[in-house]
This record gives sequence, structure tokens and C-alpha cells, in this order.
Amino acid sequence: MSGAIQRNSLPEFPGCDERNTWHTDREVSDEEGTSRTWKKSVDNASTKTTHSREKKSRKKTVYPDSLTIGEAQDPQEVGAVDALRQALIADNLLPEILDDYHMMLRYLKARNFNLESTKNMWIDMLQWRKDFGANSILEDYKFSELDEVLQYFLQGYHGIDKEGRPVYIEILGQADPKKLMRVTTIERYVKYYVQEYERTLAIRFPACSIAAGRHVASSTTIIDVQGVGLRNLTKPVIELIRRLQQINSNYPETLCQMFIVNAGPGFKMLWNMVQSFLEPKAKSKIHVLGTKFKSTLLEVIDASELPEFLGGSCNCAETGGCMRSDKGPWRDPHITKEDVCVHRNHSSKSTTLVADHLTPVECRH
Ligand SMILES: [Zn+2]
Repeated sequence: MSGAIQRNSLPEFPGCDERNTWHTDREVSDEEGTSRTWKKSVDNASTKTTHSREKKSRKKTVYPDSLTIGEAQDPQEVGAVDALRQALIADNLLPEILDDYHMMLRYLKARNFNLESTKNMWIDMLQWRKDFGANSILEDYKFSELDEVLQYFLQGYHGIDKEGRPVYIEILGQADPKKLMRVTTIERYVKYYVQEYERTLAIRFPACSIAAGRHVASSTTIIDVQGVGLRNLTKPVIELIRRLQQINSNYPETLCQMFIVNAGPGFKMLWNMVQSFLEPKAKSKIHVLGTKFKSTLLEVIDASELPEFLGGSCNCAETGGCMRSDKGPWRDPHITKEDVCVHRNHSSKSTTLVADHLTPVECRH
């Protein structure tokens, strides 16, 4: 399976800098190829939405994600998000559960801060969430075959990198797609994949942000591709890649960096084909390494956070190995559901899906 490669290698994933990256009056191109200044598009959007804002304004525009951890926000990014937010509210396109500063910012970044283009992407996402049932998937989906799936495809979150981002690992080279499809189906695996995305957004990123004291909104991925080559691209694998690729576009800007390790000649041939389809920004996030990858990984991840089989010192012996432990700040008992709620909440009362019990929690603050 190549879920994480597809999960995180989309062209829509250009960057991981959760800090300010804005350049004043920078010329950006929209999808139609025309160019405009970013400020102009925000100003227009603000003017357009003023009337609607008066008509149906929300009580407040508070973004505690950053405020609670004392991180400076770029005023122009704030302006862009506010313009988008008001435009979405005016057209009744902003359910409270998605009223999230950083989520809107990710969409804006994915569309070079072009308001119309971002709004269209947002509309597609809303439709997809409705069709797929993504809003309630944390509550109402149980991937009961996970233990069996892990026997044939080891993957999961494990620890954090030195910047506090969650690390996602896949041992793709040892995956056995045939046996995997005996214990699950593509349909069910795709649902699990979406559920994990939702869990990362709702729980892992907030917990990592609290632990790091800065906003964390992207992850680091490691894929071990030992033995992977063209022969692995069987029909079900291609179908799964296609399905996961569609889903990825609804979670833009969530990859910081990817390390592909143990890349042999077979994978490198495959990579040469794949990379021609990637945008330069996406490609620049992906580092393809051979067998001498350990020192590179240890530059970005502390040994204690990295499994032994990748050159670190962790073995999670007490939980059946690193790929079964889901180790990370999101498992830290000192970071409570309430902390995560406060970090996530943007309105006085909203229901947020929190923590491993997969139950909705009424957050108050
Ligand atoms: Zn471990």
C-alpha cells in the first residue's frame, strides 16, 4: 500500500512553516493564470462581505489556537482569514465545527490566497465531508480490524519531531496487499484513513501544539520502501492510491516533510515516474534516501522519539512495538480533553470530538 505517500505527497501540500511566511503585496497567480496582488483580493473581499457581515454576523472572531500559546500572527494572514471567514458566513458555508482559523489559513495557502479559488475549494470540501460522513466519522466508525491490518501493513503515528510535529510512519516495503485485502476492504481502509486524518486534526495537532507551546498544524512522514518497485503497482493498489489521492485534496497543507528511506533501484525507477507529476513545492518536501538515512532522520527527530528500526532508541516494548503504541503528546495524561477543547474551540460553545474515546465532548470555556 502506498497510503502515506499519496496522503502526503499532493501538489496541494506546499509548505510546513506554521510561522509567518507572508510577503506584503506579493504578486500571486490565481488558477486562471491572471495575477493580482494579495492585498487587493482581500480588500475586495472585505468590501463585498461588509453588508452580509452586518446582516448575519457571528458573535465573535476569536482564534484562541494562537492566542493561547502566545504566538504572533501575521496581520495580513489574519486579514485574509477574516475575509474568507466573512465570505463563507455570508453564504452559509461555515459550520461551527469548521470555524477554525488555521484550517481556513491552510486552504488559503493551498490556493495562493486567492479568495474565490479558496472558496471553491472549501465548497468542494464541504460537499465531500457531507457525502463521506467525515463530520461524524470519529464517533461512528470503528475500524475493528486494525490489529489484523497491522500484521500486513505496519503504519501509524509515533512520537514527534524536534519541532513538535507528529511523526507518521509507514513500513511500506513489508506490506502485503493481498493478505491485507483479506482482512479489510478498500472501502473500509479508506474510511479508516479519513478517520485518522480527522483524529490528527482534532486531537494530535492540538495536543502537539500544547506540548510544543507553538501552533503545530503539519506532520513529518517517514516511509520505509525497502523492496518496493514497479511490480508492487497491482490493480487494487492503484485503485487505493486513486481513492486516497481524492481524499488528500480535502486536507491541504498538512505535510511538513517526508523522508522516503531504504529506496532501492526499483523504487527510484518508480519515483522518477511519479515525481514528474508533482509540483516543485511538493517535491521539495520529499527526501528520497537510500540505506544511509539514519543520521538525516536523527537531525529532525530525537533518538528517543524514533523507533530502533529507523535508527532511534525507542522500541515501545510495553505496547507491542512502536507501530502499535500511538505514542505522542496526544497520549499524555497531563494534556487533558479540556486542554484540547480550549485549544480548539473558537466559539463560546461548540461540540468538539476529542481524545481516544471517540465521544463528542461539550467544550466550555
Ligand atoms: Zn516507540
